[in-house]
Amino acid sequence: MPIMSVDVSHIGIDRKPSDVPLVDVMGGAARWESKVHEHGLIALVDVMPRLVPEGQTADSAIVQAARVSYGAGTKKVSEDRGLIRYLVRHRHTTPLEMVELKFHCVMPIFVARQWIRHRTANVNEYSARYSVMSDRFYRPSVDNVRQQSTSNRQGSEGEPIDTATAQEFLDYLDRIEGEYKTYEQLLDKGVTRELARIGLPVNVYTKWYWKCDLHNTLHFLSLRMDEHAQEEIRAYAYAMYALIQPIVPHACEAFLDYNLEAMQLTRLEIEAIKSGEALKSDNKRENAEWAAKRARLGL
Ligand SMILES: Cc1cc2nc3c(=O)[nH]c(=O)nc-3n(C[C@H](O)[C@H](O)[C@H](O)COP(=O)(O)OP(=O)(O)OC[C@H]3O[C@@H](n4cnc5c(N)ncnc54)[C@H](O)[C@@H]3O)c2cc1C
Repeated sequence: MPIMSVDVSHIGIDRKPSDVPLVDVMGGAARWESKVHEHGLIALVDVMPRLVPEGQTADSAIVQAARVSYGAGTKKVSEDRGLIRYLVRHRHTTPLEMVELKFHCVMPIFVARQWIRHRTANVNEYSARYSVMSDRFYRPSVDNVRQQSTSNRQGSEGEPIDTATAQEFLDYLDRIEGEYKTYEQLLDKGVTRELARIGLPVNVYTKWYWKCDLHNTLHFLSLRMDEHAQEEIRAYAYAMYALIQPIVPHACEAFLDYNLEAMQLTRLEIEAIKSGEALKSDNKRENAEWAAKRARLGL
């Protein structure tokens, strides 16, 4: 049966190629890859727009979309930076959704658990029902076995624990990872892969393709490059940022200036600055946050 059985010849379609020379934003490479920890990686495998007019970057897709609403008033490439900075500063987010980024990621399951909470991406993950899990496990170095924070129940002090306890922890991981042999033996005996996998620890590696638009990728980065995020996922977020920075340099610069390295002041904080008085809040955490902001502002 012919695939195209519908006659569309009467519909006028202009298929003339553009005479503007286009260049590949990834320089013709199939992927840009960054190693993360011993066994992990993140690779940029595709971008939309992949081809842009010579001398431009994928930032041009943001500007092109924005000018639909703002008109063709500012057309020079030198003015693109200002327009993108305006958009980011004023949270005009939809033009940033015109850029799409696709990554191939290999990470431990406990990192994937945090990552998958970002619902606006399209994800396709390795199936441990269909395939055998690899014998790759994440291990921190001895001097990165961190102490539990006393003030933040969800984080570490950033200080390493004593070497003997760190070694005890790594020996414990060794014992659990040693059970991978049992997983293999049980598969050999015919236990189904979908059940055999449930005995594996969460530091075993999984992989996926993760596709997301630039606006939501920057939202992911703002949360996962932040110091409150767990160090292990932060390493992936930093690697992701390094991969996309040359693709959308103006958007990344604006993201640092107006988001990641910026600060939001609450109404109470603005009043405290104006009055020179203490913060009108008896909440301990809010006061600690205000003290940190004051220190950063040199107040
Ligand atoms: C430091 C840190 C600690 C965390 N601790 C915990 C924890 O202890 N327990 C826990 O469960 N989670 C925790 N999370 C996950 C967190 O609560 C968010 O689920 C995660 O960061 C994703 O954020 P998001 O929803 O803004 O992002 P995305 O899912 O990427 O969504 C982006 C934006 O799209 C919009 N959006 C997406 N889906 C919807 C929807 N269905 N309805 C309305 N708007 C939507 C929202 O505006 C959202 O901000 C933690 C995250 C961080 C960074």
